[in-house]
Amino acid sequence: MIQDMQEARRLALDDQRLARRHSLTAVAISLLHAMVCVFYLRAGYFTLDGAGLAGLFAVIWLGNLTLVAIVLTRGSVRLRDPSLSLYWNLWLTIGFMLSAYYMDEHRISVVMLFFAAMLLASFRQSLPGLILLSVAAMGGYLLVIILAWQARSVSMNLTLELLQWLIFCMTAVSFVVTGVGINALRTNLTAKNRQLSSALVQVRDMAIRDELTGLFNRRHIMDVLAQQQALADSGEYCFTLCFVDLDHFKRINDTFGHTAGDQVLQRFAVMAQRCLREADYTGRLGGEEFVLVLTQSDAPSAARVAERLRQAVAGEDFSDLDPALRTSISIGIAQYRPGEPLDATLARADRCLYQAKLAGRDQVVTEAVLAHPEKVLAPE
Ligand code: GH3
Ligand code: MG
Ligand code: MG
Repeated sequence: MIQDMQEARRLALDDQRLARRHSLTAVAISLLHAMVCVFYLRAGYFTLDGAGLAGLFAVIWLGNLTLVAIVLTRGSVRLRDPSLSLYWNLWLTIGFMLSAYYMDEHRISVVMLFFAAMLLASFRQSLPGLILLSVAAMGGYLLVIILAWQARSVSMNLTLELLQWLIFCMTAVSFVVTGVGINALRTNLTAKNRQLSSALVQVRDMAIRDELTGLFNRRHIMDVLAQQQALADSGEYCFTLCFVDLDHFKRINDTFGHTAGDQVLQRFAVMAQRCLREADYTGRLGGEEFVLVLTQSDAPSAARVAERLRQAVAGEDFSDLDPALRTSISIGIAQYRPGEPLDATLARADRCLYQAKLAGRDQVVTEAVLAHPEKVLAPE
């Protein structure tokens, strides 16, 4: 179960990891852009010389590095889109269009890099963002064609350029449609992951807790005891076990009804948790029998806690259930002895509890008391 939860958490990629991955891919696209431009420069398709191209890419990479720095310094974690996908895409597109302006009719191959960036944005942007990016790219590309036509620095076939622009626009529209689909899938998946995680937490809670009292159930308490045993066996650590049994509980059921009995059990659970520290464990073994696991506690300090709980229960006002309702508890205490089987500790605590019952109930019995019962315990 715990492994399932870890797996679910692993699948739910956190925003910072996604933002870093997004930036890395955007940088890779920009690198590809630079390589294509250098190739075209050497092939003579560029109207800019080497220095001009270097200046252009210096500006582009200044922007790239700024965005990378914002992501790496977690400057974007509080934003709605920590990946900065809109800014990345706009910046990459500006770079594509600027370089496309300085190219001849081969410009379409650089402009097409926009779709690599668009695919990336599809995972982060919703419909308005995708439309904005596409409109910006379509407008930018058209502007490049118009300006290049006006400058006429290279030979140009306007009809062919406009036809290419039209194909670009149609592809951009299809990318928006696909992006919306991808986005819906992603949103759905995130919601499902969230539901799954909370369901797993709920199921895990149900597996370890008692339904009536909300305390840990027997199975979980046995796991806790095994962990405590490992700690105590491996170092200077001790823990103590308290068996708690409500006195004459059958009479409560018989006199005041089963529902009142249930409420008494619930009230006892609240009182027990109040008396214990955060680090301790309270469990219901079954019926009106409970166990307290007091961590880092020896028997005398556990006895003090148990005595406080005994007094609290004896003094508890149950008049809201019935004016005549009163109850008490008997507690048996045993400190774990390193190396012994858990069954032995449980049996010792049980013997103490039995003695507490024998001696008249409503009392706490430790093994020290058990060793000299005649001195401490009054006969029933
Ligand atoms: P003692 O002081 O010796 O412990 O006597 P007791 O009456 O408390 O012990 P006994 O074992 O005779 O009775 C336990 C009763 O607890 C019997 C059972 O009906 C009742 N009981 C067990 N589980 C529940 C529960 O979930 N709700 C309620 N209301 N009663 C329960
Ligand atoms: Mg009882
Ligand atoms: Mg009992």
